[in-house]
Amino acid sequence: MFIKEWSARLTDDLLGQNRKAIRIIVGLLTGHCRLNKHMSLMGLAEEATCIFCSEEEETAVHVLCQCEGLARLRFLILGEENPSASSYTEAPLSRLWSLMQRTQLDRVL
Ligand SMILES: [Zn+2]
Repeated sequence: MFIKEWSARLTDDLLGQNRKAIRIIVGLLTGHCRLNKHMSLMGLAEEATCIFCSEEEETAVHVLCQCEGLARLRFLILGEENPSASSYTEAPLSRLWSLMQRTQLDRVL
């Protein structure tokens, strides 16, 4: 959903991140991460609900592109309140990592 095809720039950018950031970024970009929706599908979380808005399922697309609870923070970091999925793969991955750190999702993912 975030990655449509192989990209040398994206690969180089990813490999320039630290190990923890690589794991979390790959999880987010593939949808296989410890967000509530994925954890509930695996039977490891009671609720699939987003911790930031409590209104929608907590998926990577929701958190990174749609959640109203994170709109201001996304605007500050990415320059868009509701960026598209391609905004993340076209921009430096450091912005995605910055968003994870500012939301403190880097501590739980
Ligand atoms: Zn939300």
